[in-house]
Amino acid sequence: EQSLRSANEEIRLLSIKDPLTGCFNRSYLNERLPQELTRARRYRRPLSLIICDIDHFKNINDNYGHQAGDEVLKEFAARIMSSIRDQVDWIVRYGGEEFLIILPETDAGGTQILAERLRRKITEKTINAGRQTISVTASFGSTCLQSDSQAELYTQESIIRAADALMYEAKESGRNRVCFRPVAL
Ligand code: GH3
Ligand code: MG
Ligand code: MG
Repeated sequence: EQSLRSANEEIRLLSIKDPLTGCFNRSYLNERLPQELTRARRYRRPLSLIICDIDHFKNINDNYGHQAGDEVLKEFAARIMSSIRDQVDWIVRYGGEEFLIILPETDAGGTQILAERLRRKITEKTINAGRQTISVTASFGSTCLQSDSQAELYTQESIIRAADALMYEAKESGRNRVCFRPVAL
């Protein structure tokens, strides 16, 4: 019975995690983010979200090879995972080199501080892939759902869209930076 239970757990993990990085996948995002939103609204708690995208990742693949690119993705995700709160914050591989970080109980100040810390954590040390040493930067869009009376009007889509637009602002204003704004209706 025990081995059946652990086999089932294994299958469950395979269905909700990205095998390369160990981050959650999009189907888990669609299952859990609505729950986080409901909870934040019901108890009038803040909820923040960060989208980050590795800068010029195509060049990393072109210059060092796809294998090295994969190593960069793994180390990138590992650095973020080691910087967020265990069991509370969670990270999703949202696209190829794009990640979403969900931060319950985190307000505008908290998400800006964290995004900046993550940005620094990526740039301050090069990433080793095989015999290569690779410098990596990323751009961050960070947003926050305020615990105000309008909270029930926000949707999962509007929050992700807000963070995504901010991430693009960070790209356009030079990359390797954080752009923040609270979610607007
Ligand atoms: P930007 O700074 O504007 O984000 O530029 P970029 O080069 O990072 O963006 P672009 O979207 O042009 O390229 C993303 C690249 O990521 C292209 C794709 O081949 C690569 N990629 C996506 N998934 C994986 C993966 O699992 N492994 C590797 N090695 N590369 C991947
Ligand atoms: Mg990119
Ligand atoms: Mg991208």
